[in-house]
Amino acid sequence: MNYVSTRGDTTPQSFCDILLGGLAPDGGLYLPESYPQITKQNLAEWRELPYHALALRVLELFITDIPACDLKTLIDRTYTAHAYRWCRAGRDASDITPLTTLEPNFHLLELSNGPTLAFKDMAMQLLGNLFEYVLAKRGADINILGATSGDTGSAAEYAMRGKKGVRVFMLSPHGKMSAFQRAQMYSLTDPNIFNIAIRGMFDDCQDIVKAVSNDAVFKARYKIGAVNSINWARVAAQIVYYFKGYFEATQTNDETVDFCVPSGNFGNICAGHIARMMGLPIRKLVLATNENDVLDEFFRTGIYRPRATAETHVTSSPSMDISKASNFERFIFDLMGRDAKAVAALWAKVDAGMSFDLSDTEALKRLPEFGFVSGSSTHADRLATIREVWTQYGLMIDTHTADAVKVAREHREQGIPMVVLETAQPVKFAETIQEALACDPVRPKELEGIEARPQVVEVMPADVEAVKRFVAARCV
Ligand SMILES: *Cc1c(COP(=O)(O)O)cnc(C)c1O
Repeated sequence: MNYVSTRGDTTPQSFCDILLGGLAPDGGLYLPESYPQITKQNLAEWRELPYHALALRVLELFITDIPACDLKTLIDRTYTAHAYRWCRAGRDASDITPLTTLEPNFHLLELSNGPTLAFKDMAMQLLGNLFEYVLAKRGADINILGATSGDTGSAAEYAMRGKKGVRVFMLSPHGKMSAFQRAQMYSLTDPNIFNIAIRGMFDDCQDIVKAVSNDAVFKARYKIGAVNSINWARVAAQIVYYFKGYFEATQTNDETVDFCVPSGNFGNICAGHIARMMGLPIRKLVLATNENDVLDEFFRTGIYRPRATAETHVTSSPSMDISKASNFERFIFDLMGRDAKAVAALWAKVDAGMSFDLSDTEALKRLPEFGFVSGSSTHADRLATIREVWTQYGLMIDTHTADAVKVAREHREQGIPMVVLETAQPVKFAETIQEALACDPVRPKELEGIEARPQVVEVMPADVEAVKRFVAARCV
């Protein structure tokens, strides 16, 4: 399996070649040169497989440059009941992504039972093991530089802690994350993890990461890498749970299902799109946004209008607070019939801060073939949905999942199972749970009192040179 860029670079690249990098040299995103097609027979054979075995079947279609036995070891080590033990009472942790049925044909797929209680663990944990393996093979090492507003940073740190050949430098906005999120990250004591709290906002952190990455000399000298959401391996790992969710929500492979996905950077739902392109019987992909509705707007109108940073709403589902969706280019590439020239022209506009309008094009006429529909949600919707799910089903859900449940309800169709992806546990967003239910979410026993653990964090000004010096001093 080779990978090509959405902007036209067709130099064949293997999975391991693109694993450690970010963008393609032409600024595009990598995608498989074609999607592997699964057969009726595949579905029949895969239906009963446990998660780790299913993951191997799906991922070996995309990862053809790691020997099968090594890949199996890496996947088995990643998807263990122990790592995903924080499931709801009564669910089986060895399912990794247990399905909870709210009512007939309405389900939650739990993706947030990993170490940081958000779905990003599902892919990031595999990335940690893949990085360590490939770096050891190549005798290389990498310094991951990232910016986080909460979930990504902790998922990256828990995935990379203790990994040989990897250091993580994670910038977070000083004093802007919840006490729980701070404790998750700053209480790590692994010698390869460095937390840097920047006096500023998340955007200041992101700007520093961009500035450092744009310094080609520094980047090469200090082997700066990234694990952001455009990383292909993250998307690939997420394809697996669409298969798992499909099998759990159906009795036979003749049925179709709908998935509803709370979306920000379009990474999670992009994996669903690919599963559907591979032939998994998904009828609709329902995209849910919060007040930051740039994607909902596109699926309703055909106009993609990235927002200015100042226009981005700060919401109670903060992991979906985006001004543009970094993975969206992958979908548009497919929608445009893989016309890389056309995609490059559209993103020349996006990169210049402009919008594009496909409303009167042939491409948009094909949109229904791709199964996408969308909707959005507000803070008031979130509170109401959290309350309703609590009173109707006795289940507590987090704010992002609430956005998806709200939108999923608007798109349900008689007789078709709707699977809502549950992307975080409520304890991460306790303030909003308090507001909705006037009680505190329960947390896993092992995480009781983590706010009181000693924390290690370097507080720094929003200064590119200071961050560079910090990194350089620790990479000797
Ligand atoms: C990251 C995140 C999302 C959004 O996922 P994308 O892949 O960026 O669309 C939704 N919910 C939670 C809890 C997240 O952490």
